Amino acid sequence: MRRADHGHVVVVGGGICGLATAHELVRAGTGVTLLEGSDQLGGLGTFFAWRDRWVERFYHCVMPTDDHLLDLLGDLGLRDAIAWRPTRMGMVVDGRAFPFNTALDLLKFTPLGVLDRLRFGAVSVLLRRLGRGKDLDRTRTEDWLRGLYGDRVWELLLAPLFGAKFGARFGDVPALYLWQRLGREGAVSVRGYPDGGYRAVIDALRASIEAGGGVVRLDAPVRRIGVTGGRARITLDGDEVVTADRVVSTLPLPSLRQVADDDLAARLPDVRLPYQGVVNALFFLRRPLSGHYWTPVVRSGTEFDGLIQMTPLAGVDPYDGRHLVYAMRYTDRESALFQEDDAAVAARWTAQLLALHPGLRHEDVDDVRVFKAPFVEPVYPLGYSSRRPPVVVAGTPLLLATTAHVYPDVTSWNSSVGLARRVVATLAQAPQPVPG
Ligand SMILES: Cc1cc2nc3c(=O)[nH]c(=O)nc-3n(C[C@H](O)[C@H](O)[C@H](O)COP(=O)(O)OP(=O)(O)OC[C@H]3O[C@@H](n4cnc5c(N)ncnc54)[C@H](O)[C@@H]3O)c2cc1C
Repeated sequence: MRRADHGHVVVVGGGICGLATAHELVRAGTGVTLLEGSDQLGGLGTFFAWRDRWVERFYHCVMPTDDHLLDLLGDLGLRDAIAWRPTRMGMVVDGRAFPFNTALDLLKFTPLGVLDRLRFGAVSVLLRRLGRGKDLDRTRTEDWLRGLYGDRVWELLLAPLFGAKFGARFGDVPALYLWQRLGREGAVSVRGYPDGGYRAVIDALRASIEAGGGVVRLDAPVRRIGVTGGRARITLDGDEVVTADRVVSTLPLPSLRQVADDDLAARLPDVRLPYQGVVNALFFLRRPLSGHYWTPVVRSGTEFDGLIQMTPLAGVDPYDGRHLVYAMRYTDRESALFQEDDAAVAARWTAQLLALHPGLRHEDVDDVRVFKAPFVEPVYPLGYSSRRPPVVVAGTPLLLATTAHVYPDVTSWNSSVGLARRVVATLAQAPQPVPG
């Protein structure tokens, strides 16, 4: 393959964005070294060994609208390895479980009064259309939804439901974020899960990068990034230095700030965003729960605010016959919950899951694991579309490809692959950086 003229590129971070960037660069004939700090690729989509299986630490699924990701899977010969299934949604409010999929479900949804149920149904059907042509990027989610649904629906249902994602700050997030999500998923949605799990996709990406001459290094945490003579200078453990014509960082912006040297840090965009992290507990159960893929849990005495049941999506084979349920709570990495010991979280959340499901007995819980991630996505401020940092850090060989760059798209493997493509196209066109 002919080498492209943007020389050798180092990609920092081996999550989906880094893997997809390296894959696209190799396809364009560019020399690539990918540096991943941990001992596994996949980032937030990574996995752990459970008995003789590999299981994702955080729940993941593919949506039929994930065009960038599906294209990439096509390149890897994995498009047909996605099994698609219709999935349904439940809702637990004040400890009571409800199906939440059809008009009839809504009519029977007693946490809301009859008029509010009707209004909820009508507005929900029209919501996507109602957002068209509005400046939702500069409209607070709370202002938009309160206006449409009314105070009671906002306070009883929507604030706790969507607040689960961004905590108390949810009302301030641009309504555009929610509007984009409506385009991606609904209550009854067809979802996909890769045969062999996400590990199969990650392994195929690595194989493709290496087959194209790229280098993939694990256990290679980047400690410093600087610029010397217009080239990137990347320092690893043991003072090993790697130089490159360009470097693409997929690290969350706060992590990048920690490794950028003073000169480079001064050139980084001055965008300081709070980030949400997540705590996930995985329950391997001997019996299924409700059969709903997604169930928000509202005001029910639990610290987790939602459950994802994998059985309707992936069956029980990937989990040695067990029913895998993820319980999640999005939270700040400084919160007491995030800082708490995994075993304590596992014990308390198990008790909460049992209390929520009186039919579930302690002996039905075969195993529990807890995983945390400090950076899932930024809490976007109003008007973020015009404040979103550019991909190219001017005057340097550094390009940014992070979750802070995918907005207003939903943070997902799909948007990360789309971003990777944008970054590679930018690299191909961007003039050489001014020497530093
Ligand atoms: C609970 C949860 C559920 C989700 N559900 C879905 C879903 O259903 N579908 C979907 O498509 N998406 C889902 N997502 C979102 C998706 O996982 C992310 O959007 C995507 O993985 C982000 O990829 P990334 O490569 O940008 O970042 P990351 O995955 O965070 O990758 C960054 C990588 O950089 C590495 N790194 C960090 N510091 C250094 C360093 N100093 N040196 C070298 N390497 C370093 C990290 O180890 C990591 O591998 C979910 C996320 C979470 C947390």
